[in-house]
Amino acid sequence: MDILLQCKPDRRERWQAALQAAIPDCAVRVWPDVGDPAGIELIVTSSRLPIDLSSLPNLRFVATTGAGVEHLIGSVDGIPPEVPIVRVVDPKLTSSMAEYVLTAVLRYHREFHLFEAAQKAGKWLTPVRCDPEARTIGIMGLGALGQASARLLTTLGFRVLGWSRRLKDIDGIECHHGADGLRAMLAKTEILVCLLPLTAETEGILDAAAFALLPTGATLINVGRGKHIVEMDLLAALDAGPLAHATLDVFTEEPLPREHAFWAHPNITVTPHIASMTVPESAVEGIAHALRLARRGEPLPLTVDRSLGY
Ligand code: NAP
Repeated sequence: MDILLQCKPDRRERWQAALQAAIPDCAVRVWPDVGDPAGIELIVTSSRLPIDLSSLPNLRFVATTGAGVEHLIGSVDGIPPEVPIVRVVDPKLTSSMAEYVLTAVLRYHREFHLFEAAQKAGKWLTPVRCDPEARTIGIMGLGALGQASARLLTTLGFRVLGWSRRLKDIDGIECHHGADGLRAMLAKTEILVCLLPLTAETEGILDAAAFALLPTGATLINVGRGKHIVEMDLLAALDAGPLAHATLDVFTEEPLPREHAFWAHPNITVTPHIASMTVPESAVEGIAHALRLARRGEPLPLTVDRSLGY
């Protein structure tokens, strides 16, 4: 049987070699070389493929190469509902995201963003010291990436709050859910991290109403998706308060257009969607595991719930 691989050209060789090593009894075909449609058992892809997947009689599931799935299920030409989508959860992507979040949090916690601005103005700033135990971080999204980031922050002593759709019970993390839970969390959050998936419910969730709930001087780290933010509301919250600074890794349009207001804003740090990236060599283990389960007729792990959008 065959695996059909579609990914960015610069990642293709690594993905192909990693899949071949993890699933040696399949041949890895690279899109658009479909070969015999009946030979395709698995598709590993970063985007939609312009073929009717219902016409592949032996296709077991589609595995994603990245954590976000909104582009695969969004509209009528997405993956047909009878074909399961298995989301990649790559331990290296997860640890790299937690590392990015930690870096951005520590920069705000130790107020480097203020020192950078003060240096430009030639000002000698004397900060008020704050222990991690007195610093409250709020994380929107307690999935694979949100939980890993939350746990890393708790090891340094930070007070970590988290928000998810269903209420969670995670040692050391104050968990919230639902609309009231979000309001309660935002009211206490000094450093807000967004690690939500992009769905109909979460698009535009970081708007004027949400920002207005944050304490004065709060900061934002968005590593979810650009469309979680209402851009005009973010700029207003940075200019008039309560937000003091934002670190943005993801944008509505990527690459961020040269003329975009975010580039030159003194209180925004832009990183070019680099918070974390799937490492094929570690991600393929999960894909191979899912294929073994599928062949045995057992339930697949980490499948996307189309009705929820993630
Ligand atoms: P995940 O495991 O699916 O977790 C998603 C979390 O969001 C879950 O805790 C879920 O709640 C919560 N959630 C979803 N909809 C919600 C809603 N309406 N209200 C409240 N909570 C909601 O996803 P993940 O692997 O952690 O990845 C999260 C996102 O990170 C991805 O979708 C992608 O957009 C982004 N990402 C960014 C980068 C980057 O480089 N910047 C890299 C990878 C991923 P439940 O737990 O109750 O289901």
